Amino acid sequence: MTAAIIELLAASRRPLVVCDVDEVVLEFLDPFDRYLNSVGHRLHPDSFRLHGNIRSIAESIVAEDAEVERMQEEFFTTQDRWQTPAAGVDAALRSLSEDADIVFLTAMPPRHHDVRRTLLDLHGLDFPMIATEEPKGPVVASLIAERKVPAAFIDDIAYNHRSVRTHAPDCILIHLMANKVFRAMAPRPDAGIVVAEDWMQAELLIRHHLGLSPG
Ligand SMILES: [Mg+2]
Repeated sequence: MTAAIIELLAASRRPLVVCDVDEVVLEFLDPFDRYLNSVGHRLHPDSFRLHGNIRSIAESIVAEDAEVERMQEEFFTTQDRWQTPAAGVDAALRSLSEDADIVFLTAMPPRHHDVRRTLLDLHGLDFPMIATEEPKGPVVASLIAERKVPAAFIDDIAYNHRSVRTHAPDCILIHLMANKVFRAMAPRPDAGIVVAEDWMQAELLIRHHLGLSPG
């Protein structure tokens, strides 16, 4: 999949925009909580993590790690029933795609690729997607490759920003997270990572870094 997208981009000289999916392109935490409610659980925003914050509704018992994994697996298998696009993503990416190549890079087991692809297409978010559990930095570097085009990377997880900073240091790193409750509890982004409140602001930051006119 990655190889096919690298080939697709090889002839392009346009700037590159690489977007995470969960909490960036698609809402994740609110839909996941709706799924949890359907199986008798609730996600409590007590800290910036899932494990330990999911409790049964009936008895307020904390779900064990294995149970959280099982519920995440079921959620991702049926994600098309729950997940919806983040506010403003469609307009921003539609506009950016006139001047830049867009690639979705989702840290999800590849077995869920097809259901996610179908869901994104349904919402007109039909940009190429890579689903991998490999670190994101080397993938972003391989997408830029020898073309040396300016690039932007948008994600909600510090670990991914650090990986891209190591492997694609010229890429602008933007922190964007749809869920405002959990975002308020997120660790402070590392120096050099730019925080965008929403997709409108993210688009302006991306356009500025990529040397594009402001939409
Ligand atoms: Mg994410």
